[in-house]
Amino acid sequence: MASIEFVRVTKQFEKNVVIKDLDLKIEDGKFTVLVGPSGCGKTTLLRMIAGIDPQSSGSVLINGKDVTRIAPGQRGVAMVFQNYAIYPTMSVRENIEFGLKNNKVPKAERTELVETISATVGLAEYLDRKPSTLSGGQRQRVALARAMVKKPSVFLMDEPLSNLDAKLRVQMRIELIELHKKLGTTFVYVTHDQVEAMSMADTIVLMNKGTIQQEAPPDVMYRQPNNLFTAQFIGVPPMNVGELGRGGVKFGFRPESAELTHEHSGLHYAARGRIITREMLGSETIYQVRCGQHAFMIKCVEDRFTVDQDVHLGVAADKLVFFEADGSRISTEHALFKDHLEALRGIPHGA
Ligand code: ATP
Repeated sequence: MASIEFVRVTKQFEKNVVIKDLDLKIEDGKFTVLVGPSGCGKTTLLRMIAGIDPQSSGSVLINGKDVTRIAPGQRGVAMVFQNYAIYPTMSVRENIEFGLKNNKVPKAERTELVETISATVGLAEYLDRKPSTLSGGQRQRVALARAMVKKPSVFLMDEPLSNLDAKLRVQMRIELIELHKKLGTTFVYVTHDQVEAMSMADTIVLMNKGTIQQEAPPDVMYRQPNNLFTAQFIGVPPMNVGELGRGGVKFGFRPESAELTHEHSGLHYAARGRIITREMLGSETIYQVRCGQHAFMIKCVEDRFTVDQDVHLGVAADKLVFFEADGSRISTEHALFKDHLEALRGIPHGA
């Protein structure tokens, strides 16, 4: 097991600075997910931990030790990639055993390790098969087993599920959570998919343009976003945001926090609107409602409205949040919070 720490880390490719003065602590034994839009620097962080592509300045510490001068193979980390990186001509057993053979681990020990680990990831029956005869999920398990035999103190995973179909991805997510529980090792997992981050992480590190926007457990990230970027990146559909009309301040509410009714609901924020689109997803329906200049996404348990219908939209005061013009969230303790709340009550938002 191991903790990881970035201390004032900068990474640049020629003149292009992609990470600047980044500080981050990844806790020992936790499942940490680095998430953010394409190009924000997630893979770059992972590669710096692995030592494949070291930082330009600053330090990376593993278990409190500066690993800047330590070669990738000596850092006690194993990386699992999106494209599996398994050898097609070797059997599953040979693939898993490969690194052990290279490290001159004796035969008896190799056999035992391969058998225990293949059982852990559910591959025991497939040891003599070639990868081409396996499903995507099984191939991903081979890649995991290959990383596991090295008994790393840190697992680094770069979008390992992105080549799998939606159903298998959900199944593998659960398997990874269970594997993490079983091993108790530090997992650092990169994805651009916020649903993966929300479902698997102990801690989410949300990045944008090389900077950390927020670092928190999933529920905190969802309920107490630091800023507009986090509020709109985490959650599907994203948080609804509107202009308060006061110096660039914005108000926001989650799609499930609003109520749609035929009559005025009497809730704090009240607007008249018209249903623009309706997506019936089975257990819930998502409506797009136009209220004046705003188009809000509303998630309802009941499917009660049709397209083009006029509705009342209401949001309770305790479900409303406000953001400064620079995007930072205004705390409920802030002197202006109540003022903004009052201002929102008076705004005529109509269809
Ligand atoms: P994705 O989700 O698309 O994989 P990411 O968040 O993992 O994105 P990175 O791969 O870390 O993003 O890239 C961060 C930035 O660094 C991007 O702007 C990318 O173009 C740049 N970059 C990454 N590797 C190199 C390289 N070898 N040479 C030059 N620029 C690079």
